Amino acid sequence: VTRDPDQREFHQAVLEVLESLDLIVDQHPEYEKHGIIETFVEPERMISFRVPWVDDNGQVHVNRGYRIQFSSAIGPYKGGLRFHPTVNLSILKFLGFEQILKNSLTGLPMGGAKGGADFDPKGKSDAEVMRFCQSFMTELNRHIGQFVDVPAGDIGVGGREIGYMFGQYRRIRGSYDAGVLTGKGLSFGGSLVRTEATGYGLCYLTAEMLKAMKGESFDGKTVVISGSGNVAIFATEKAAQLGGKVVALSDSNGYIHDPNGVNLDVVKDIKLGRRGRIKEYVDAVPGSTYTEGFRGIWNVPCDVALPCATQNEIDEEIAKTIVKNGAIAVAEGANMPCRPEAIRVFQEAGLLFAPAKAANAGGVATSGLEMSQNSMRYAWPFEEVDRRLKDIMTTIFHNAYNASVECGVPGDLVVGANIAGFKKVADVMLAQGLI
Ligand code: NDP
Repeated sequence: VTRDPDQREFHQAVLEVLESLDLIVDQHPEYEKHGIIETFVEPERMISFRVPWVDDNGQVHVNRGYRIQFSSAIGPYKGGLRFHPTVNLSILKFLGFEQILKNSLTGLPMGGAKGGADFDPKGKSDAEVMRFCQSFMTELNRHIGQFVDVPAGDIGVGGREIGYMFGQYRRIRGSYDAGVLTGKGLSFGGSLVRTEATGYGLCYLTAEMLKAMKGESFDGKTVVISGSGNVAIFATEKAAQLGGKVVALSDSNGYIHDPNGVNLDVVKDIKLGRRGRIKEYVDAVPGSTYTEGFRGIWNVPCDVALPCATQNEIDEEIAKTIVKNGAIAVAEGANMPCRPEAIRVFQEAGLLFAPAKAANAGGVATSGLEMSQNSMRYAWPFEEVDRRLKDIMTTIFHNAYNASVECGVPGDLVVGANIAGFKKVADVMLAQGLI
C-alpha cells in the first residue's frame, strides 16, 4: 500500500487473497522463508507505451497502452486486453493478479497477465478502430509470442479488434504465429466455443454449485444478468438452455426488464449485429420496460444473480436488496463485480457465492484449448470443445470446494479458489527457485 497508494482495485484484489492465505501460512513456513507471497504480488514486468493514431478527420490522438506480465511460473503470460477509458495501472494490475490464480485453476499451463489502453471504442468508426489496433500492436508485438505472452479480448476487445491486431502482428513479424493471440476468427486459427466460453462456463459452474451444494438446478429459476456484452449474452443463452428464465440485462446507461424472459435474438441483433444500446430492446419487444441507471437492475427480484458487466458494480446496499428479494445464488461473470462488503452480505445470508476467478475461468480455459489446437494445426468440433469446457468448469468447482473443506471453511469458494489457485503456482515458484 505504501508503494502504490492510489491502486485501490489492486489492493482490494490482493487483500482478499492474503486474507485467504492467512488460513494456510502456518502450515507452509516455506512460503514465508522463500518470500513467495512478497514475490507473488509484484508483477514480473510492467510495460507502458504511447499509442498514436489518426481519426477519420485527420486529427491525431495519443492513448496510453499497457501490458502487465504478472507471472510466468506455470506457463507463458496469458490474459486479455481491455480498451476502455477507465483503464489504468491499478485496474490492470488487479486483473493481471486475479488472472494468475484463475489460469492456475483451469489446470492448463498458462501464466497471468493483462493489458489494454485507455481508448474508448464507443462511437468510433471501423477504420478508426483498425488504425488504433494497428498502432497498439506496432509496439505490443515485440513483447508477445506463443511461448512468451498470449493476449486475448476483454471489455472493448472482441473478434473485430483481435482480427486487426493479428493482421498487424503478422505484417510486422512476417510469420504466421497463430498461437500469439486467442479469440481469433474461426477462419484464421480461432476455436469454436471461444466466443460463448465465458458465459457458458459461468453457467456450467453455477449449475454444478447449485447441484452439489443445494440439490438444485437452473430449471424454473428466474435469473438476472448485468451487462449485455460478450459474457452477459452467452450466459443468457446457456442459462435459458438449462431451463432458467433471464428477465433483465443492462449496459452502462440502464437496464431492460422483460418478465416473459428476454428474447436473445433481439439482444444479439442490437448488440452484436449493430453495436446498439440495450434500450432499443423495448422498441422490438412489447411488454418489456427500460429504466435509466445500470445499478437499478438489482432491484429486479431473482433466484440467481449473475453480474457480468464490470468491477465493483454490487455494493453492500445492492447485495442486501438481492438477499431481501430471495436470491439463492450469486456467481461472478465479470471480474470482481462484488465489493468485499457485498460478498460478506451474501455469505452471511447463506447464499451460494462463486467468485470470478473460478466462475468466469471458462473464457481463458477455452483460450488455452485454442492454443492447443493452434499447436496441433487442427480444430476440434464444437461439441468436443464444449465438453472439455464443461469438464474444466466442473473440476474447478470441486477443486475450490474441496480446498474450502480442507481449510475448515466448507462451501466458502472465495477461500477455496484463492488457495487452490495459489498453491499450484507457489509450489512451482519454490521448485524453480528465486527468479
Ligand atoms: P464487453 O465489452 O463485451 O461488455 C461489457 C458490458 O458491461 C457492456 O454491456 C458494457 O456496457 C458494460 N459495462 C462496461 N463497463 C461498464 C461500467 N463502467 N459500468 C457499467 N457497465 C459497464 O465485455 P465482456 O462481456 O467481455 O466483459 C465483461 C466482464 O467480464 C469484464 O469484467 C471482463 O473482465 C470479464 N471477463 C470477460 C471475459 C471474456 O472472455 N470476454 C473472460 C473473463 C472475464 P456499455 O456497452 O454501455 O459499455
